[in-house]
Amino acid sequence: MSVIVEPELLEKKLFIGGEWVDSESGEVFEVRSPGDGSLVGTVPKGTEADVQRAIEAATQAQKVLAAMSVRRRAELLWRAFEIAQRRAEGDAITLCRECGKTITEARSEVSHYNNPHYIEAAEGLKRFRGAVHPWTQSDSTDKRIVVTREPIGVVGIISPWNWPADIPNIAASHALAVGDAIVFKPASTTPFSVINLAEVYEEAGFPPGSVNVVTGPGTTVGAELVRNPGTNAIHFTGETATGEYLTQIAGVKRLLLELGGNGPLVVMDDANIDAAVEAAIVGCFYLAGQVCTASERVLVHRAVHDEYVEKLAARTGKLRVGNPLDEATDMGPLNNVANARKVQEHIDDARERGGEFVCGGTIEGLYCQPTIVDGVTSEFLMARDETFGPVAPIMTFGTIDEAIEIANETPYGLQGAAFTSSLRTAWLLGEGIKCGTVHINDTNNTWDQLAPFGGFKKSGLGRELTNYVMEELTEVKQITFDLSKVR
Ligand code: NDP
Repeated sequence: MSVIVEPELLEKKLFIGGEWVDSESGEVFEVRSPGDGSLVGTVPKGTEADVQRAIEAATQAQKVLAAMSVRRRAELLWRAFEIAQRRAEGDAITLCRECGKTITEARSEVSHYNNPHYIEAAEGLKRFRGAVHPWTQSDSTDKRIVVTREPIGVVGIISPWNWPADIPNIAASHALAVGDAIVFKPASTTPFSVINLAEVYEEAGFPPGSVNVVTGPGTTVGAELVRNPGTNAIHFTGETATGEYLTQIAGVKRLLLELGGNGPLVVMDDANIDAAVEAAIVGCFYLAGQVCTASERVLVHRAVHDEYVEKLAARTGKLRVGNPLDEATDMGPLNNVANARKVQEHIDDARERGGEFVCGGTIEGLYCQPTIVDGVTSEFLMARDETFGPVAPIMTFGTIDEAIEIANETPYGLQGAAFTSSLRTAWLLGEGIKCGTVHINDTNNTWDQLAPFGGFKKSGLGRELTNYVMEELTEVKQITFDLSKVR
C-alpha cells in the first residue's frame, strides 16, 4: 500500500534574513524523485552573491542570538521540537520522495534521529560547562584563570542527500543552542528536507537571519560558503574527495568534516551467526547501502564461512525492493545516476576479478538488487573504496590478527563492527580496529545520539553529537584575574 495518492508539487525559495526570496540569478532547478522520476518540486539556483547576502544576515542575527539568555534559546529549541513533531509525517513523505529511502526509513530519520536533536541541544546547552583554575603556575597566589566558551559566530552547514534532515540538523540545533547563526547549503537532490528545517526554526521564533538557506550547486554555492571569510566554521558531510578539496580553500577556520567510510563487519568463528547475519542485512542493505556507516566489507572467519554465506543469502532473498512510498518495501532505489554508476563500476570490477555473485549484481535505472559477492580480496575496488550501494562483499580470514589487518587496510576509519562471544576477542577487536566507533555484537549501521560520532583517517575531522559538537561550534576563551591589583 502506497502512503500518498496525489503528491504536492513543492515550489520553494531561498531563506535569507528571515525572508523567502528568489536567487539573484532568477533561475530555479528541478528535484525529481529517484523512486519513479516524478517531479518533487523546484528550488532557486543560488549564486555566490546569495551566499554573501545570507552570511551578512547571519552575522547581524548572531549578535542577537548570542545576547539571548540560555533559557530563552532552550525554549525556542523546545518549541521547534513540538512543531517538528506536529509536521513529522509530512516531512517524512517529502524526505522519502526526494531521497528515495523507504517511507519506514524516512519516518525513522525524522522522528527517531532528527527531531530529538532539538531537545538534546536545548538540554545539552544547560549542562555545557567551563572551568575555574583556582591557582596558576605564577609565584603569586593572587592569580586565577577562568576558562569559558563563546559562540564561534557564523556556521556554514553543507549536507549530503542520504540523511538530508538529520545530518544538517545535528549542526544546526547545537549551533543555534550555543548562539551561532547558520547558513545551510543542502545537497541538490534533497533540498526540501533542509527547507523543512528552516520552516520549523522560523515558526519557532528564532530571530530573522539566524537561520538561512541557499540552495544551488556545491561547486559554486557550497565552495563560496567555505571560502568566504564571513563564515567562522564549516560543518561538512560528504565524500572524502570533496572534504579534502574544502581543506584547501577554507583558509583558517574551524572545519568539522564527516566523510566517507568503508566499514568492516568482522564475524569470528565463535560469533552468534544469526545475529551477525541480521547485522549485515542492516549494515549492507539499509537505505540501499548508501550510508557512511554501512558494512562495506564483511570479513568472515574461514571456519563459519559456508554457514554464514548460506544464511545471509537466504535472508537477503526475502528483501522486497521497490517503490519507497510503499509500506511493504524493504529497500528503495539509489539516489542518483552518479552513485548508480559508481556502484556499477564496483560490480563490474568484482566480475572481472572473478568475484562469485551469490545473488544480485544487476542495476536497472536506479534500482540495484541486493548483492552478495563472495571471494573478495583486498585488490577489489569494493574492498578498497566506498561502494555506497547494496553490496555485501565477503572476505575470508583465519586469525584475529589477519582480521584486524584487513579491517585496517583502507584509508577510511568511520565505524567498524565485530561479532564474537569471547570477551578477550571483543576487547582485542575493539582496540585493534582503527575507527571512530567499533560496535561489538551490533551492526555497523547504528549510532547512539548521546555518544561522540566521527572518523579516523580519511573519514573525517572532529566529533559530533552532544557536547562534542558544541565544543566544535564554540571558541574556548581564557580570562585571567590578578586579585592583588584590587582592594
Ligand atoms: P558530496 O561530497 O558529493 O556532496 C556533499 C555536499 O557537498 C552536497 O551538498 C554537495 O552539493 C556539496 N558539494 C559538492 N561539491 C562541493 C564543493 N566543491 N564545494 C562545496 N560543497 C560541495 O557527497 P554526497 O552528497 O554524494 O554524499 C555521499 C557521501 O557522504 C558519501 O561519501 C558518504 O560516506 C558521506 N557521508 C558521510 C557521513 C559521515 O557522517 N561521515 C554521513 C553521511 C554521508 P551538491 O549536491 O550541489 O553537489
